[in-house]
Parts: sequence; structure tokens; C-alpha cells
Amino acid sequence: MQSGNQEKEGAQAPFFIPKDLDAGLQLIRLRRRRMGHILLGLIPFVLVAGSIGYSLSELETMWFILAAAIYGALLLAYSLRLAFTECPRCHGFYHCRSWLDPTTPQCLHCGLPLKAGG
Ligand SMILES: [Zn+2]
Repeated sequence: MQSGNQEKEGAQAPFFIPKDLDAGLQLIRLRRRRMGHILLGLIPFVLVAGSIGYSLSELETMWFILAAAIYGALLLAYSLRLAFTECPRCHGFYHCRSWLDPTTPQCLHCGLPLKAGG
């Protein structure tokens, strides 16, 4: 009849994140930081585009279009990479359910918080 006390004590154990979950969460944080850096690159790119305006030669225009295409491809690649990053606990897409939320503080499937672990 006293076995109920043991279960209660076990339920009060501190919150613990296993090492494999921690590595997965670190990967999500790394991909978020990289996506942030890519987005920051948009600011100087737009400023340069705005300051140059209509004074570009034909060759400069071609280079600018090439740079814009490369930047767009890079932005798309990092966006997709972040969107399809798996949660280390439930293996669903961390930021994607029926909607996409790249700034979510927790897994959109199982609720694993990003700040859990180290
Ligand atoms: Zn999850």
C-alpha cells in the first residue's frame, strides 16, 4: 500500500535533457543564427541597390542581377534548411506543422523548448 509514495518522489525529479536531445537543439540554434546572418545581409544589399540606382552600366547591371540571384538562392536554401530541421525528440519538423513559424520558442509538435539543455 506504500508504493504510491515512491512514484510521487520520482515525479519530482529535476527537468533533464539527454545529450542527444541537446545536440539536436544546438543544431536548431545554429541554423537559426545562420538564417539571421543571411537576413542581415539583405540590409547592405538593398542599400547598395538603392544607392546605385539608375547609374549602372550594362555590365554592372548583369553583375548585380547575378549577385541578386545568388543571394536569393542562398536565402531560399537556408530558409528551407531551417524549415525542415527535425526535432530531436519527436522527429517532426521543429518549425513547421500546418504553418511555418521560424521564431517559435518550442517544437510545434511535441513542445520541446529550444532553451532546454545547454
Ligand atoms: Zn518535437
